[in-house]
Amino acid sequence: MPSVISTDVLIVGGGVAGLWLNARLRGQGFATVLVENASLGGGQSLKSQGIIHGGAKYALHGALTGASEAIADMPRRWREALAGNGELDLAGVRLLSEAHYLWSPGTLAGNLTSFFASKAVRGRVDQVKGNELPPALQHPKFKGKVYRLAELVVDVPSLIERLAQLAGDSLLAGQQIEPLLADGQLVGLRVDGRDIQAQRIVLSAGAGTADLLQTLSINQPKMQRRPLHMVLAKGAALKPLFAHCLGGGPKPRITVTTHPAADGQNVWYLGGDIAEADGVAREPAAQIAAAREELHKLLPWIDLDQVQWATLRVDRAEPEQSGLVRPDNAFVAEQGRLLVGWPTKLALAPDFADRVLAALSKDGIQPTAQPAPNDLPKPPLAIPVWDQLLP
Ligand code: FAD
Repeated sequence: MPSVISTDVLIVGGGVAGLWLNARLRGQGFATVLVENASLGGGQSLKSQGIIHGGAKYALHGALTGASEAIADMPRRWREALAGNGELDLAGVRLLSEAHYLWSPGTLAGNLTSFFASKAVRGRVDQVKGNELPPALQHPKFKGKVYRLAELVVDVPSLIERLAQLAGDSLLAGQQIEPLLADGQLVGLRVDGRDIQAQRIVLSAGAGTADLLQTLSINQPKMQRRPLHMVLAKGAALKPLFAHCLGGGPKPRITVTTHPAADGQNVWYLGGDIAEADGVAREPAAQIAAAREELHKLLPWIDLDQVQWATLRVDRAEPEQSGLVRPDNAFVAEQGRLLVGWPTKLALAPDFADRVLAALSKDGIQPTAQPAPNDLPKPPLAIPVWDQLLP
């Protein structure tokens, strides 16, 4: 006979969305079990750039859009959590940068100048010069303009580690998931032969959610994947840089974040336009050559000769939208006991948790005194991609 567990909320997927939600629920007294079939954070979360957006990037057309408004509160919520006085205690999680920057290599297009001067961005975006510039841009040959955004960049490996601590005994390494039915209704999941009954089941399995829905014979909501071809560069010549470099279009031409490798060297992680359509079509060697050329054009004083390179293909998983438009908010859909969603951004993990908590509250779901299972096999923490690809 399979062993049976009863819990309040069963979560599938140990990326930032599932782990953040799990910590919030436990903080409110809910009993939870979180199932992960690979490694914690090893999906999109540890492959992200860690930028806690406040929406400025999405307002590059010259006006704040819905996306900007919905996400505008996220930096404050993360800052409070990181200071240990927010909705979660994330004190000890490493902050990579207090700010993210917008960097225009030439003169700003007219509409952007008025955007930066507008009331909507005042207080959120300030121009910086001289020794306030990010270290990598402090060079006599640097000509561009740089704006400091009120957005931060977190070290995702230390974030996931802390969220795993906050998960206590609730984590379960599990591979084989089947529906657990009573009278034809979903009442839980069978995980590797162990029945887990729950008041609510949350699928937060990132790109794995589409297959899970199929396993449960559910065809809504639909998921879309947005492929990216990221570039990693490691070397002593790479000083800290956290910036969207503007190209003239609505999307940053390149987005650079800087991460500490296990050997202490800096890794530049490059996304933005270069990682999208044309970048996805390129083979890794051509993608590295394109990134190298782009960096040489933008930052000609940096010696790239001793830099080690790698690329990473990864899909963003999101709810389906027409025209592959970037969704504005975390997304959660409800069907009976099942809640299915994607945060759509790491930054929106708090919004994802809010939406699940609101759904529980609407349905009158309360914590019950379930004993915490304490003998569950635990999933491992994922290894940062730069340490895997550039050892
Ligand atoms: P994931 O992190 O993908 O986690 C899902 C988890 O579910 C994984 O651990 C997986 O192993 C597990 N899983 C899958 N199937 C199953 C199953 N059947 N059973 C059990 N477990 C399962 N957002 C930002 O806000 N800022 C950024 O700077 C940023 N940069 C990004 C850069 C890149 C290259 C990418 C790809 C994304 C970026 N994002 C960024 C988006 C952000 O990473 C994602 O929105 C977020 O990490 C999604 O979290 P998640 O928990 O939903 O998914």
